[in-house]
Amino acid sequence: MIDLEALSRYTEIPSTARRLLERPERQLQLSISLRTSNERLYQADAFVVYWNTARGPAKGGIRLWPDVTLRETAELAELMVYKTALVGVPFGGGKSGIALDPGEMSAPEKASLMKEYVRLIQFELDGSAYIPAPDMGTTARDMAVISSETQRRETVTGKPVSVGGLPGREQATGRGVAYVAAMAWEKLLGLSVQNVRVAIQGFGNVGAWTASFLHEMGACICGVSDIHGGTFAGGGLDIPALRRWIQNGGKLESFGQGEIVTNDELLASDVDILIPCAVGGVLNEHSAPSVQARLIVEGANGPTTAAGHELLLARKIQVVPDILANAGGVIASYVEWSQGKSGRLMHQEETYVTVEQHIEEAFRRVLSRSREQSVSLRVAAATLAVDVVVRAMVDRGWL
Ligand code: NAD
Repeated sequence: MIDLEALSRYTEIPSTARRLLERPERQLQLSISLRTSNERLYQADAFVVYWNTARGPAKGGIRLWPDVTLRETAELAELMVYKTALVGVPFGGGKSGIALDPGEMSAPEKASLMKEYVRLIQFELDGSAYIPAPDMGTTARDMAVISSETQRRETVTGKPVSVGGLPGREQATGRGVAYVAAMAWEKLLGLSVQNVRVAIQGFGNVGAWTASFLHEMGACICGVSDIHGGTFAGGGLDIPALRRWIQNGGKLESFGQGEIVTNDELLASDVDILIPCAVGGVLNEHSAPSVQARLIVEGANGPTTAAGHELLLARKIQVVPDILANAGGVIASYVEWSQGKSGRLMHQEETYVTVEQHIEEAFRRVLSRSREQSVSLRVAAATLAVDVVVRAMVDRGWL
């Protein structure tokens, strides 16, 4: 959770605002059941949280992962409040979660699950109070199922282009992560991104696209991992070949380039930039002391704990925070949502330019506040975002 008390040392947060921002506006706890054609019964907890909607409808992805909890969903919804505020996207913060393992479901089962989910949260979707997108375990195809069920394009973002999605939305989060990583490396360390050595944890949507874009920029992607472990080659991995390998059903560990490593080894590997793009809390009091990278870019949501952050800062390792680094997805989602309403068409390159402009502008503001107030990038980003949310609450007459 954002520590508003600690942040109030650096920016003015009225006490009423603090009280409103410390709790979610709305939490739904649901039970989702699905009987499949072979008589299998899936049953799981599901959650929808709106943390704060002062700046617009609750926006946030659907996480389909076995260990999803209400608490985690709420924390991710809270993060969305500040992410949308920092990059100037007029959405509030929301999130939803379904505690099931997507790896255990066939494609038709997953489609039926999404249809059942739409039935359960119909009221939220019909009123446009909550606008989902993909998150861990869900994909563009799942968003296509949701949009088919609601029959309104703007109910969901992250759809395939063939059904009204935005060209470049699938790549947008990774595009933003790669862009901000290169910019931070150049501005904070004064070095070129050419040949910079990078390790990326998580090779799903965010990790794989981040790897592709950084590879195109001339960086050397030395290590990548997924939930089963990773592969590391000091001289760099052939990322286009690795992506083709994975797309054709290959496993990371049998790719044949580099040495097989565990996730712990990947986080501690000898690289310049480490980019966690999987689960939360991986850089903590146990793992942070072994990090060798000089810059962390948070592709995942919440990968660095408060204790991990302190340890990294004490070792002069800078952390580009999630609400800035992975905001490319929500920026593109806003464009897709507006496109769904207006019918305007956009090209992939325009999406990339929009993502880069918003991220660059936010990065500059974060860097300048961090320097002015001698605070970390995390504190600078959070205080800038809190200021924007408080302003909206004042304008709405909530304070
Ligand atoms: P994804 O499901 O496409 O991929 C997740 C990847 O992480 C997979 O490679 C998986 O094997 C790996 N993984 C899972 N558990 C792991 C573990 N314990 N250790 C190591 N690797 C593990 O998910 P995604 O959409 O790429 O999301 C990844 C992260 O980025 C999440 O934290 C998500 O909240 C965040 N995020 C995603 C988006 C988006 O647009 N998809 C936007 C902003 C933030």
